[in-house]
Amino acid sequence: MSVTNLHIAELLGRRADEAEGHRRRAYGRASSAALMWSEEAAAVAARSESLETLAGVGPSLARRIAGWLEDPGDEVEPPPARRGFRSYASALKQLGSHEQWRHELRGDLQMHSTHSDGKASLQDMAMAAAARGYDYISITDHSQGLKVARGMDEAELLRQGHEVDALNENLASEGMELRVLRSIEMNLDKEGAGDMDPQSLEPLDLVVGSFHSNLRSTEDETRRYLGALANPQVHILGHPTARRFSRRAGLKADWDRIFEAAARAGVALEINSHPHRQDLSVNLLRKGKDSGALFSIGTDAHSTEELSYIELSLSAAQLAGIDRERIINFWELDRLLEWAESRTGG
Ligand SMILES: [Zn+2]
Repeated sequence: MSVTNLHIAELLGRRADEAEGHRRRAYGRASSAALMWSEEAAAVAARSESLETLAGVGPSLARRIAGWLEDPGDEVEPPPARRGFRSYASALKQLGSHEQWRHELRGDLQMHSTHSDGKASLQDMAMAAAARGYDYISITDHSQGLKVARGMDEAELLRQGHEVDALNENLASEGMELRVLRSIEMNLDKEGAGDMDPQSLEPLDLVVGSFHSNLRSTEDETRRYLGALANPQVHILGHPTARRFSRRAGLKADWDRIFEAAARAGVALEINSHPHRQDLSVNLLRKGKDSGALFSIGTDAHSTEELSYIELSLSAAQLAGIDRERIINFWELDRLLEWAESRTGG
Protein backbone atom coordinates (compact mmCIF):
# COMPACT_ATOMS: atom_id res chain seq x y z
CA MET A 1 0.00 0.00 0.00
CA SER A 2 1.39 3.38 -0.94
CA VAL A 3 1.52 6.21 1.55
CA THR A 4 -1.29 8.73 1.04
CA ASN A 5 -1.30 12.52 1.43
CA LEU A 6 -3.61 12.08 4.41
CA HIS A 7 -0.98 9.89 6.06
CA ILE A 8 1.73 12.45 5.24
CA ALA A 9 -0.45 15.24 6.72
CA GLU A 10 -0.78 13.20 9.91
CA LEU A 11 2.98 12.47 10.11
CA LEU A 12 3.71 16.19 9.66
CA GLY A 13 1.01 17.09 12.17
CA ARG A 14 2.64 14.79 14.71
CA ARG A 15 6.02 16.47 14.10
CA ALA A 16 4.30 19.83 14.71
CA ASP A 17 2.76 18.55 17.97
CA GLU A 18 6.22 17.53 19.22
CA ALA A 19 8.03 20.71 18.14
CA GLU A 20 7.93 24.27 19.43
CA GLY A 21 8.01 27.82 18.07
CA HIS A 22 9.09 28.27 14.48
CA ARG A 23 9.47 24.54 13.74
CA ARG A 24 6.04 23.82 15.15
CA ARG A 25 4.46 26.42 12.85
CA ALA A 26 6.42 25.21 9.81
CA TYR A 27 5.38 21.58 10.32
CA GLY A 28 1.80 22.68 10.99
CA ARG A 29 1.70 24.64 7.72
CA ALA A 30 3.19 21.71 5.83
CA SER A 31 0.64 19.32 7.35
CA SER A 32 -2.21 21.63 6.25
CA ALA A 33 -0.68 21.98 2.78
CA ALA A 34 -0.45 18.19 2.34
CA LEU A 35 -4.20 17.96 2.85
CA MET A 36 -4.72 20.40 -0.05
CA TRP A 37 -2.34 18.92 -2.67
CA SER A 38 -4.35 17.98 -5.73
CA GLU A 39 -2.18 14.95 -6.49
CA GLU A 40 -0.85 12.16 -4.29
CA ALA A 41 2.81 12.70 -3.38
CA ALA A 42 3.34 8.99 -4.09
CA ALA A 43 2.18 9.55 -7.70
CA VAL A 44 4.58 12.50 -8.11
CA ALA A 45 7.44 10.37 -6.78
CA ALA A 46 6.45 7.43 -8.99
CA ARG A 47 6.99 9.67 -12.04
CA SER A 48 10.46 10.51 -10.65
CA GLU A 49 9.36 14.12 -10.39
CA SER A 50 10.64 16.31 -7.57
CA LEU A 51 8.38 16.47 -4.51
CA GLU A 52 9.28 20.17 -4.41
CA THR A 53 6.63 20.69 -7.10
CA LEU A 54 4.08 20.24 -4.26
CA ALA A 55 2.94 23.44 -2.52
CA GLY A 56 4.87 24.26 0.65
CA VAL A 57 7.58 21.63 0.09
CA GLY A 58 11.25 22.68 0.17
CA PRO A 59 14.38 20.51 -0.11
CA SER A 60 14.48 19.22 3.48
CA LEU A 61 10.77 18.45 3.62
CA ALA A 62 11.04 16.70 0.24
CA ARG A 63 13.74 14.40 1.68
CA ARG A 64 11.63 13.65 4.74
CA ILE A 65 8.52 12.87 2.68
CA ALA A 66 10.56 10.70 0.32
CA GLY A 67 11.69 8.76 3.39
CA TRP A 68 8.10 8.28 4.53
CA LEU A 69 7.08 7.12 1.05
CA GLU A 70 9.66 4.35 1.49
CA ASP A 71 8.78 3.58 5.09
CA PRO A 72 6.01 5.46 6.89
CA GLY A 73 6.44 3.51 10.13
CA ASP A 74 3.51 2.16 12.12
CA GLU A 75 0.11 3.68 11.62
CA VAL A 76 -1.05 5.61 14.71
CA GLU A 77 -4.53 6.95 15.32
CA PRO A 78 -4.68 10.73 14.80
CA PRO A 79 -5.65 12.97 17.73
CA PRO A 80 -9.34 14.08 17.74
CA ALA A 81 -8.65 17.37 15.93
CA ARG A 82 -7.23 15.48 12.91
CA ARG A 83 -9.74 12.64 12.78
CA GLY A 84 -12.23 12.12 9.97
CA PHE A 85 -10.54 14.42 7.44
CA ARG A 86 -9.88 13.53 3.81
CA SER A 87 -7.31 14.85 1.38
CA TYR A 88 -8.25 16.98 -1.62
CA ALA A 89 -6.35 14.52 -3.84
CA SER A 90 -8.49 11.61 -2.64
CA ALA A 91 -11.70 13.62 -3.13
CA LEU A 92 -10.73 14.43 -6.74
CA LYS A 93 -9.96 10.79 -7.42
CA GLN A 94 -13.15 9.55 -5.78
CA LEU A 95 -15.31 12.03 -7.69
CA GLY A 96 -13.70 11.04 -10.98
CA SER A 97 -16.04 8.05 -11.27
CA HIS A 98 -19.13 10.11 -10.31
CA GLU A 99 -18.94 12.96 -12.82
CA GLN A 100 -22.68 13.72 -12.66
CA TRP A 101 -22.06 15.28 -9.24
CA ARG A 102 -19.91 17.93 -10.88
CA HIS A 103 -22.16 18.42 -13.89
CA GLU A 104 -25.47 18.74 -12.08
CA LEU A 105 -24.25 21.13 -9.39
CA ARG A 106 -25.81 24.58 -9.87
CA GLY A 107 -24.03 26.77 -7.36
CA ASP A 108 -21.94 27.43 -4.28
CA LEU A 109 -23.72 28.80 -1.20
CA GLN A 110 -20.97 30.13 1.02
CA MET A 111 -18.14 32.50 0.06
CA HIS A 112 -16.60 35.76 1.26
CA SER A 113 -15.51 38.93 -0.52
CA THR A 114 -13.61 42.10 0.37
CA HIS A 115 -16.80 43.24 2.15
CA SER A 116 -15.51 41.16 5.09
CA ASP A 117 -12.36 39.02 5.22
CA GLY A 118 -12.24 37.71 1.63
CA LYS A 119 -9.36 38.59 -0.73
CA ALA A 120 -11.38 39.11 -3.92
CA SER A 121 -14.06 41.65 -4.86
CA LEU A 122 -17.69 40.68 -5.46
CA GLN A 123 -17.10 41.11 -9.17
CA ASP A 124 -14.04 38.81 -9.19
CA MET A 125 -15.83 36.11 -7.17
CA ALA A 126 -18.79 36.31 -9.58
CA MET A 127 -16.55 36.04 -12.66
CA ALA A 128 -14.72 33.03 -11.22
CA ALA A 129 -18.06 31.37 -10.39
CA ALA A 130 -19.39 32.09 -13.89
CA ALA A 131 -16.28 30.46 -15.34
CA ARG A 132 -17.15 27.34 -13.35
CA GLY A 133 -20.55 27.29 -15.07
CA TYR A 134 -22.68 27.98 -12.00
CA ASP A 135 -26.26 29.28 -12.18
CA TYR A 136 -25.93 31.04 -8.83
CA ILE A 137 -23.65 31.84 -5.93
CA SER A 138 -24.38 33.23 -2.53
CA ILE A 139 -22.15 35.95 -1.09
CA THR A 140 -21.98 35.37 2.64
CA ASP A 141 -19.74 38.00 4.18
CA HIS A 142 -19.51 38.00 7.97
CA SER A 143 -21.86 39.93 10.25
CA GLN A 144 -20.79 42.59 12.73
CA GLY A 145 -20.26 40.29 15.74
CA LEU A 146 -17.18 38.77 14.13
CA LYS A 147 -14.75 41.68 14.52
CA VAL A 148 -11.65 39.69 13.53
CA ALA A 149 -13.23 39.05 10.12
CA ARG A 150 -14.26 42.72 9.64
CA GLY A 151 -17.94 41.77 9.91
CA MET A 152 -20.56 44.03 8.32
CA ASP A 153 -23.03 46.16 10.26
CA GLU A 154 -26.56 46.85 8.94
CA ALA A 155 -25.49 49.90 6.89
CA GLU A 156 -22.62 48.01 5.22
CA LEU A 157 -24.93 45.05 4.48
CA LEU A 158 -27.34 47.42 2.73
CA ARG A 159 -24.51 49.01 0.70
CA GLN A 160 -23.34 45.54 -0.30
CA GLY A 161 -26.88 44.65 -1.33
CA HIS A 162 -26.98 47.58 -3.75
CA GLU A 163 -23.63 46.50 -5.16
CA VAL A 164 -24.95 42.96 -5.68
CA ASP A 165 -28.06 44.32 -7.45
CA ALA A 166 -25.88 46.39 -9.80
CA LEU A 167 -23.63 43.40 -10.43
CA ASN A 168 -26.65 41.23 -11.31
CA GLU A 169 -27.85 43.88 -13.76
CA ASN A 170 -24.44 43.91 -15.42
CA LEU A 171 -24.31 40.11 -15.62
CA ALA A 172 -27.78 40.01 -17.18
CA SER A 173 -27.00 42.76 -19.69
CA GLU A 174 -23.94 40.78 -20.79
CA GLY A 175 -26.11 37.71 -21.27
CA MET A 176 -24.52 35.76 -18.42
CA GLU A 177 -26.55 33.09 -16.61
CA LEU A 178 -25.03 33.62 -13.19
CA ARG A 179 -27.15 35.20 -10.48
CA VAL A 180 -25.52 36.50 -7.29
CA LEU A 181 -27.68 35.95 -4.22
CA ARG A 182 -27.77 38.41 -1.35
CA SER A 183 -26.78 36.65 1.82
CA ILE A 184 -24.73 36.87 5.00
CA GLU A 185 -22.87 34.56 7.36
CA MET A 186 -24.53 35.69 10.56
CA ASN A 187 -22.82 35.09 13.86
CA LEU A 188 -24.92 33.02 16.28
CA ASP A 189 -24.56 33.22 20.06
CA LYS A 190 -24.82 30.33 22.50
CA GLU A 191 -28.63 30.57 22.36
CA GLY A 192 -28.63 30.38 18.57
CA ALA A 193 -29.64 34.03 18.21
CA GLY A 194 -28.17 36.28 15.48
CA ASP A 195 -26.37 39.63 15.82
CA MET A 196 -28.19 41.67 13.15
CA ASP A 197 -31.35 43.76 13.24
CA PRO A 198 -33.94 41.31 11.79
CA GLN A 199 -35.22 44.04 9.45
CA SER A 200 -31.80 44.32 7.81
CA LEU A 201 -32.07 40.63 6.81
CA GLU A 202 -35.41 41.01 5.02
CA PRO A 203 -33.99 41.95 1.60
CA LEU A 204 -31.62 38.96 1.66
CA ASP A 205 -32.20 35.79 -0.35
CA LEU A 206 -30.54 33.50 2.20
CA VAL A 207 -29.05 33.65 5.70
CA VAL A 208 -26.30 31.31 6.83
CA GLY A 209 -26.05 31.15 10.62
CA SER A 210 -22.76 30.02 12.16
CA PHE A 211 -21.13 29.58 15.54
CA HIS A 212 -17.75 31.28 15.90
CA SER A 213 -17.31 31.38 19.68
CA ASN A 214 -17.02 28.95 22.60
CA LEU A 215 -15.92 26.34 20.09
CA ARG A 216 -13.60 24.47 22.45
CA SER A 217 -16.44 23.59 24.81
CA THR A 218 -16.32 19.94 25.88
CA GLU A 219 -19.94 20.00 27.13
CA ASP A 220 -22.86 18.63 25.15
CA GLU A 221 -23.97 21.59 22.98
CA THR A 222 -27.24 20.17 21.60
CA ARG A 223 -29.16 23.07 23.14
CA ARG A 224 -27.40 25.76 21.13
CA TYR A 225 -28.09 23.85 17.91
CA LEU A 226 -31.78 23.50 18.75
CA GLY A 227 -31.83 27.27 19.39
CA ALA A 228 -30.21 27.98 16.02
CA LEU A 229 -32.61 25.65 14.18
CA ALA A 230 -35.57 27.35 15.84
CA ASN A 231 -34.27 30.79 14.76
CA PRO A 232 -36.66 31.85 11.96
CA GLN A 233 -33.94 34.02 10.35
CA VAL A 234 -31.65 31.10 9.55
CA HIS A 235 -31.84 29.06 6.32
CA ILE A 236 -28.51 27.26 6.51
CA LEU A 237 -26.44 26.24 9.52
CA GLY A 238 -22.82 26.96 8.50
CA HIS A 239 -19.87 24.61 9.29
CA PRO A 240 -22.05 22.86 11.90
CA THR A 241 -19.47 21.28 14.24
CA ALA A 242 -17.01 24.20 13.82
CA ARG A 243 -14.06 21.82 13.81
CA ARG A 244 -10.69 22.95 12.37
CA PHE A 245 -7.95 20.60 11.18
CA SER A 246 -5.31 20.11 13.89
CA ARG A 247 -6.83 22.90 16.00
CA ARG A 248 -10.11 21.70 17.47
CA ALA A 249 -12.28 18.61 17.22
CA GLY A 250 -15.61 20.45 16.97
CA LEU A 251 -18.65 20.77 19.21
CA LYS A 252 -20.21 17.73 20.86
CA ALA A 253 -23.93 17.21 20.48
CA ASP A 254 -26.69 14.67 19.99
CA TRP A 255 -26.60 14.59 16.19
CA ASP A 256 -29.66 12.36 15.78
CA ARG A 257 -31.71 15.02 17.54
CA ILE A 258 -30.13 17.80 15.51
CA PHE A 259 -30.79 16.11 12.16
CA GLU A 260 -34.37 15.49 13.20
CA ALA A 261 -34.85 19.10 14.34
CA ALA A 262 -33.27 20.41 11.11
CA ALA A 263 -35.60 18.25 9.03
CA ARG A 264 -38.62 19.51 10.97
CA ALA A 265 -37.54 23.17 10.79
CA GLY A 266 -36.56 23.00 7.11
CA VAL A 267 -33.08 24.34 7.81
CA ALA A 268 -30.26 23.03 5.62
CA LEU A 269 -27.06 21.79 7.27
CA GLU A 270 -23.88 22.86 5.53
CA ILE A 271 -21.29 20.57 4.04
CA ASN A 272 -18.44 23.07 4.27
CA SER A 273 -15.79 22.30 1.65
CA HIS A 274 -12.77 24.02 3.11
CA PRO A 275 -10.03 21.35 3.46
CA HIS A 276 -9.44 22.45 7.06
CA ARG A 277 -13.13 22.27 7.94
CA GLN A 278 -14.84 19.45 5.93
CA ASP A 279 -17.83 20.08 8.13
CA LEU A 280 -20.10 18.05 8.25
CA SER A 281 -17.76 15.09 7.99
CA VAL A 282 -18.53 11.95 5.98
CA ASN A 283 -19.32 10.12 9.23
CA LEU A 284 -21.90 12.68 10.33
CA LEU A 285 -23.36 12.82 6.81
CA ARG A 286 -23.87 9.05 6.95
CA LYS A 287 -25.66 9.50 10.25
CA GLY A 288 -27.95 12.19 8.80
CA LYS A 289 -28.58 10.84 5.33
CA ASP A 290 -31.97 9.26 6.09
CA SER A 291 -33.12 11.90 8.58
CA GLY A 292 -35.03 13.96 6.05
CA ALA A 293 -32.73 16.93 6.67
CA LEU A 294 -31.59 19.13 3.79
CA PHE A 295 -27.95 19.92 3.08
CA SER A 296 -26.19 22.91 1.54
CA ILE A 297 -22.73 22.97 -0.01
CA GLY A 298 -20.48 25.97 0.54
CA THR A 299 -16.78 26.30 -0.14
CA ASP A 300 -16.40 29.14 2.37
CA ALA A 301 -13.94 30.47 -0.23
CA HIS A 302 -11.98 33.57 0.78
CA SER A 303 -10.36 33.81 -2.68
CA THR A 304 -11.30 32.80 -6.23
CA GLU A 305 -8.90 29.83 -6.07
CA GLU A 306 -10.68 28.37 -3.05
CA LEU A 307 -13.87 27.87 -5.08
CA SER A 308 -12.25 24.67 -6.34
CA TYR A 309 -12.57 23.01 -2.93
CA ILE A 310 -16.23 22.32 -3.76
CA GLU A 311 -15.12 18.83 -4.76
CA LEU A 312 -14.38 17.90 -1.15
CA SER A 313 -18.06 18.41 -0.30
CA LEU A 314 -19.37 16.75 -3.44
CA SER A 315 -17.26 13.70 -2.84
CA ALA A 316 -18.16 13.58 0.88
CA ALA A 317 -21.89 13.67 0.07
CA GLN A 318 -21.49 11.04 -2.63
CA LEU A 319 -19.49 8.76 -0.32
CA ALA A 320 -22.05 9.16 2.46
CA GLY A 321 -24.85 8.16 0.10
CA ILE A 322 -26.76 11.46 0.26
CA ASP A 323 -29.40 11.85 -2.44
CA ARG A 324 -28.59 14.89 -4.63
CA GLU A 325 -32.25 15.90 -4.32
CA ARG A 326 -31.61 16.56 -0.59
CA ILE A 327 -28.82 19.04 -1.41
CA ILE A 328 -30.21 22.49 -2.20
CA ASN A 329 -27.28 23.37 -4.53
CA PHE A 330 -28.70 20.88 -7.03
CA TRP A 331 -32.03 22.73 -7.17
CA GLU A 332 -32.99 25.23 -9.82
CA LEU A 333 -32.78 28.84 -8.71
CA ASP A 334 -36.56 29.36 -8.55
CA ARG A 335 -37.01 26.37 -6.30
CA LEU A 336 -34.17 27.48 -4.05
CA LEU A 337 -35.66 30.96 -3.66
CA GLU A 338 -39.16 29.57 -3.03
CA TRP A 339 -37.80 27.31 -0.31
CA ALA A 340 -35.93 30.23 1.26
CA GLU A 341 -39.05 32.38 1.29
CA SER A 342 -41.25 29.69 2.76
CA ARG A 343 -38.70 29.16 5.54
CA THR A 344 -38.76 32.79 6.63
CA GLY A 345 -42.49 33.15 5.92
CA GLY A 346 -41.76 35.88 3.33
ZN1 LIG B 1 -17.73 30.90 9.52
